[in-house]
Amino acid sequence: MRFMRRSSGASRRCRSIRVNGTDVPYRVVRREVKYPRLEFKTGELLAVLPKSWKDEAPLLEKKIEWISRKYEEIQRALDGFKALGGNGRDLLVFGKFFRIRENGAVKIDFGGTTVECNLKERRQVKRLRTILKERLLSEVEPAALEYSQKFGVNFNRIFIRKQRTKWASCSAKGNLSFNFLLACLPKDLIRYIVCHEVLHLKRKSHDGNFWEQIGREFENYREMEKKLFEYWFLVQEYSRLSPLKIS
Ligand SMILES: [Zn+2]
Repeated sequence: MRFMRRSSGASRRCRSIRVNGTDVPYRVVRREVKYPRLEFKTGELLAVLPKSWKDEAPLLEKKIEWISRKYEEIQRALDGFKALGGNGRDLLVFGKFFRIRENGAVKIDFGGTTVECNLKERRQVKRLRTILKERLLSEVEPAALEYSQKFGVNFNRIFIRKQRTKWASCSAKGNLSFNFLLACLPKDLIRYIVCHEVLHLKRKSHDGNFWEQIGREFENYREMEKKLFEYWFLVQEYSRLSPLKIS
């Protein structure tokens, strides 16, 4: 595998490496970290370097196999996105795409009720975001109650908010936060994420016991994890393109 670094002009922020004939763009950030690392959390390759590191090239060279594998996985996930019908002009709600017409009008079927909205009007975009948040909460809340009873734990409050790097998180105070982008996911995956997060109130780390208990709730949890991995990158791309401006 060949490694090549390309810097575009004076911009240190926009670089790419050549991996198997493809230019993979990446960014470099320097932080107070002990060891350098690579991340693909938002679908974009990020090299996180300790402040004393001048050059990212040795790190990238060493990890080129990993970069190649991850990049291909992400591209496959995005191809799946296109196959689903995602083209940046549609709205993705609970795992289904709804076509946005030329004039900005979109009709969302929530299974029983439909909501019509014009995304060219800012107030209506805001209204739709509120509706999606409420709908998402009405999926998340009963599931959180169900699993908290099952696992014998209590949670404090539930928040729906923008999260850049995670689907969900929980705090020491027992608050659960869920990424607004969960509203893009099919409902079975939303339940799966809620189960995972509630279980963290009982078990902090992803150890054997954790996955064993998840496996008791979701026999196909490996498949769910794989789907979530693909959806993550799909949703990152979607949020960059979406008329809801959620990135
Ligand atoms: Zn976790």
